[in-house]
Amino acid sequence: SKAGGRGTWRFFEPAMDASVQSRRALELDLREAMAKDEFTLFYQPIYDLRMDRISGFEALLRWPHPKRGLVPPDQFIPIAEDIGLITPLGEWVLNRACEQAAGWPSELKIAVNVSATQIRDPRFIEVVASALDASRIAPQRLELEITESVLLGNSAETIATLHKLKAQGLSIALDDFGTGYSSLSYLRSFPFDKLKIDQSFVRDATATNGSKLIVRAITSLGKGLGITTTAEGVETIEQLNQIEAEGCNEVQGFLFSRPVPATEIASTILNLRGG
Ligand code: C2E
Ligand code: CA
Ligand code: CA
Ligand code: CA
Repeated sequence: SKAGGRGTWRFFEPAMDASVQSRRALELDLREAMAKDEFTLFYQPIYDLRMDRISGFEALLRWPHPKRGLVPPDQFIPIAEDIGLITPLGEWVLNRACEQAAGWPSELKIAVNVSATQIRDPRFIEVVASALDASRIAPQRLELEITESVLLGNSAETIATLHKLKAQGLSIALDDFGTGYSSLSYLRSFPFDKLKIDQSFVRDATATNGSKLIVRAITSLGKGLGITTTAEGVETIEQLNQIEAEGCNEVQGFLFSRPVPATEIASTILNLRGG
C-alpha cells in the first residue's frame, strides 16, 4: 500500500511480514544446520526395465529440522541458493552420497542432483574428483543430474565443465526433461547420457493424450540419440504399463519405492529383486 508521500512505499500487510520473518528464521536455521551437519540423504531406487533390476539410486536431500520436522528440499534449496550455501551443501551431498554408495553392490549407480550455481563454481570439477577419490567408487558409478536451468546463461563455460566431467568417466542426466525452454537445442550442444522425463507427463500419460504423446516423443528421441530415458513419478501399475509400452528404459516412483534412508537400502534392493 502506498501509505506515505510521493514515491514512499510502506508495506503493512501482515501476511508478507510473517513470510519475511519466517524466511529469515529459515535462513538462520539453515546456516546453523550446515554448521551442525544436520542434513541427511534419502535414496530412491531407479529400476531398469530391460535388466529387470535396480540400476541405482538417486540421492535426495532431507533436512530433519528440530521443530519443523523433515523439511523437503523444494522448501530450502532455493534459500540455500540465495544465501550462498548451496555450494558447500552440494559438496556435502556429493561426498556423502559417494561415501554411502561405496558400501553398496558395485553394479549400482548413484545419481546426485547438482544445481546451476554449484556447476558454475570454478572448484566444481575438483570437488567431484575429490568425492570420487575419497570414496574410491568408480567414476562410472556416479551420475550427475542437472536441469536445463544449468544450461541457461553462460552455457559455453558450463558445457566445457560438463565435457571435462564426462572425460573423467561419470555420466550426465538431463532432469525434468520437457519442462524447460528450448529443450531440444540443448541436446545438440551436449551429449547427455540420459533424459529423465518429468513426472508431470508421466502422471498424466494414462489420462491425457497430450502427455502420452510427449512421453512417446521423448522416448523415441532418446532412442534416436542412443541414450537412456527414465520416467519419473510412476505411481500406478497403469502408468507403468503405459511407460513400458512406450519403450522407456527406466522407471522411478512411489510404485517401486519412496525415497528411503540409507539404512533401508538393503531391504529395498531385496524387495525389488526380480520385480
Ligand atoms: P527431482 O530431482 O526431480 O527429484 C524427484 C522428486 O520427486 C523427489 O522429491 C522425489 O521424492 C519425488 N518423487 C519420486 N517419485 C515420486 C512419485 O511417484 N510421486 C511423487 N509425487 N513424487 C515422487 P524431493 O525429494 O522432495 O526433491 C524435490 C527436488 O529437490 C528434486 O527434484 C531436486 O530438484 C531437488 N533436490 C533434491 N535433493 C537435492 C540435492 O541434493 N541437490 C540439489 N541441488 N537439489 C536437490
Ligand atoms: Ca533429480
Ligand atoms: Ca526430476
Ligand atoms: Ca519386470
